[in-house]
Amino acid sequence: MLIHVELLKKSSLTLAFEEPADRFPGLREMARNGECEFTSPIRVRLRAARIQEIVEIEGIVQAAMRVTCGRCLMPFIYPLETEFALTYTGDRPGMPEAAEPEAKEMDASDVGLIYFQGEEIDLTEGIQEQVILSFPLRPLCREDCKGLCVRCGTDLNQARCRCAPLSAESPFAALSQLKPD
Ligand SMILES: [Zn+2]
Ligand SMILES: [Zn+2]
Repeated sequence: MLIHVELLKKSSLTLAFEEPADRFPGLREMARNGECEFTSPIRVRLRAARIQEIVEIEGIVQAAMRVTCGRCLMPFIYPLETEFALTYTGDRPGMPEAAEPEAKEMDASDVGLIYFQGEEIDLTEGIQEQVILSFPLRPLCREDCKGLCVRCGTDLNQARCRCAPLSAESPFAALSQLKPD
């Protein structure tokens, strides 16, 4: 995913990219670890604008991935979609010779800028980070997934089991009997 800075000299650009997830080293690693399986390419739509040495990129990234539900352990397709804004700069300021030695040099990365070199911005790392950041920590196949019975393992979305409801024997249920009349 490359943006040619030259093309931004006159006006901003609207671009769309699509690349297989295994072109992103970090995503390839996730798939290899079994954390998910990408079932679509990584799709990016963005708008890029240049203001002097700063290139502002705003857009949306989408991907579909097969993950395991955190409650019922069923695999399902999770549609990932997230908006992002990235700011790149080709200008790497050198330390002026006359600068005070104690003055802490302000690094561009401290203010959220990403450096690029030459005439192309490679979005691979920036986009990869967006996907990783919006990856669900505990994906649910649906909001109200009932999960598995903690005793017999029945998928309570599919069937009922004969186990007594847990609440009847919860330590808090016993407390209600201690109330004075
Ligand atoms: Zn589930
Ligand atoms: Zn059960």
